[in-house]
Amino acid sequence: MEREHSSFYKEERSPRYNAREVALKRAELENIPLILSSETPSMESYWNVHENNFLEAELNAGEERENLLKKTIIDMTKEKSKKKIISYELQQAISGSLKNKRQVVLFLNKRGFSSFMICSQCGHIPKCPDCNTSLSYHLDIQKRAQLICHNCGKRAKVTNVCVKCGSKEIRPLGMGTQKLESEIRKMFTRAGIRRLDQDSLIKDDDYRQILEEFNQGKTDILIGTQMVLKGVDFDNVDL
Ligand SMILES: [Zn+2]
Ligand SMILES: [Zn+2]
Repeated sequence: MEREHSSFYKEERSPRYNAREVALKRAELENIPLILSSETPSMESYWNVHENNFLEAELNAGEERENLLKKTIIDMTKEKSKKKIISYELQQAISGSLKNKRQVVLFLNKRGFSSFMICSQCGHIPKCPDCNTSLSYHLDIQKRAQLICHNCGKRAKVTNVCVKCGSKEIRPLGMGTQKLESEIRKMFTRAGIRRLDQDSLIKDDDYRQILEEFNQGKTDILIGTQMVLKGVDFDNVDL
């Protein structure tokens, strides 16, 4: 299974399933080996390797690569503030890199501000009227909130009242690159920060320009989705 981390394997409509999990179950039932491949493995697969449920095979294994890639999983449940989305350890590591004039790339495989909206009274989640996918919460350039369907592109207004039960306790949940950007901006007010994802590209030239600014060292922290994995010069990046 190629690009096992891909969100395309996840069915957002009912019945909800992840094709990766289906493939794993099928491999188990039929007793056949399954190879999952990815340049950026999913948290689930990374955890399964950690717990020895999966065997890890690296394409260019070797000491140099081992030294190059130091992976750390941080248990956020141990954080003092439960509302924080950036751990103390990561915050310290970013500060350290910035002090040493090194660059930081923050990768998050979810665009938008939050994953979806949910009513805390009845659990209702606003869905796309056309394809029934959960709508994602986005902010536009003027920082106005809107809901976008990642499956068919339909846009909808943000509702402040739950259409199902009338409660006003409906709010965004989960984290996307826009929310990560706003948190990072609050934390590192003097750093040069850019975001690279589908929503940050407005003009044709934006993609090239954001990458060029980063590769020339004008950007300190680059935040983005899968897009940051291609074309970024990682020479001056150590986090
Ligand atoms: Zn849709
Ligand atoms: Zn409700």
